[in-house]
Amino acid sequence: MKQLLILGGGVSGNAALRLAAKLGMNARIVSDQDSCDPATIFSGIDAIIVSPGMHRNRSALRRLAEQSKLPCLSEMEFGFRHYPGTVLAVTGTNGKTTTTEMTTHFLRALGVNAESVGNIGRPLSDLAAEPNPASVAVAEVSSFQLELTQEFAPKAAVLLNLGSDHVDCYEGGMEEYIRMKMKIFDRVPETARIFGCSMPQPCQRHVTRSGNILSLNGQRWMEVPAALQGEHNLENLAAALELVLRLIPSPDRKALSAAVSSFRIGRHRQEIVREKDGVIYVDDSKATNPASVVAACKAFRERAPLVLLLGGLDKGMDFTELEAIREWVQCAILYGEASNTIAQSCVNYFPCLQADTFPEAVQLAARHAKCGSAVLLSPACASFDLFPGGYAERGDRFRQLVEEL
Ligand code: ADP
Repeated sequence: MKQLLILGGGVSGNAALRLAAKLGMNARIVSDQDSCDPATIFSGIDAIIVSPGMHRNRSALRRLAEQSKLPCLSEMEFGFRHYPGTVLAVTGTNGKTTTTEMTTHFLRALGVNAESVGNIGRPLSDLAAEPNPASVAVAEVSSFQLELTQEFAPKAAVLLNLGSDHVDCYEGGMEEYIRMKMKIFDRVPETARIFGCSMPQPCQRHVTRSGNILSLNGQRWMEVPAALQGEHNLENLAAALELVLRLIPSPDRKALSAAVSSFRIGRHRQEIVREKDGVIYVDDSKATNPASVVAACKAFRERAPLVLLLGGLDKGMDFTELEAIREWVQCAILYGEASNTIAQSCVNYFPCLQADTFPEAVQLAARHAKCGSAVLLSPACASFDLFPGGYAERGDRFRQLVEEL
């Protein structure tokens, strides 16, 4: 019987434990909080499964595991090896969740039993542990899951875009982060490697676009619904459709068009909260890196000059990427841990005002915004410095403060 050691007792670690039990393997979970003897912890172990949260620069156990020379697999790799269905995979700096949700929504509309898994919430190991799992898994894959993959071979995969994020987790900086992301294609045939349309790499495309009109294999097909317009949404939509076409080359076009029209983008992603005194307030709390802020400012550029709320926890990002939006920004209100770093990088692009608290930041933004413009909570940072509940808590708090204005 195989003996597994699972690093990390969160959602992924527990899913891996259930899958190991189904496979009749002996497994136990350890985390950095447990007192472990480094001399004995790996004795009798055949393989180590690593949860995505157990990152090298944060977890002593993970570093020990890699030194042990035992096989180390990411939780997704473990799930993949034992999942009997087909996997489609999505990575990139931004748009992963939206593209994953779209792909699953479209496949279901075409009668496929598909499930979204991975970074989006439900681990692939959890699906693989089911007695009768869905036949297609659409996997949102993070750079952390890709680090420890060896056999991961999705039928088709998407790399949407690349901007600075999680760079603090890689000794080799941005270059290493990109290398990890590119690993998604290691075992994918060339015709099934899809790059987001903002990326320079060529790839086979079945879906093309002229303005808001989509064509399928060269034939005019449909107008993009208003809810999915904007460059970033179109990037996600095109990628999701390409994935679907790799699985179903001649789909029922009517059913697919209806699915495109009925798709709704998840909360806290450029969500308009309120209009007050001619100013719209936008909750884009899920924008946790500079590239997603650029996408938001582009989407709302008709409302320029914009007032931006920026701040939170830095992940080693390059805030000079925000130079791209200087022409649309009236001023940025900075709050939270990263506010000094952002100010140093951006003060030459647009005026930066510092607020002591998040409520004060919202008040200041409202005071500066001009009629006809927009206030964007598009923070370019993670939220955990002020909001233990993550981006959703930050977005909900913003909504509450805006409603109180
Ligand atoms: P992820 O799962 O990669 O974080 P989401 O779909 O949850 O992606 O979106 C995260 C943020 O990125 C949101 O602010 C959203 O508006 C923005 N976004 C979505 N798609 C793209 C894209 N293709 N390019 C740039 N930004 C995007």
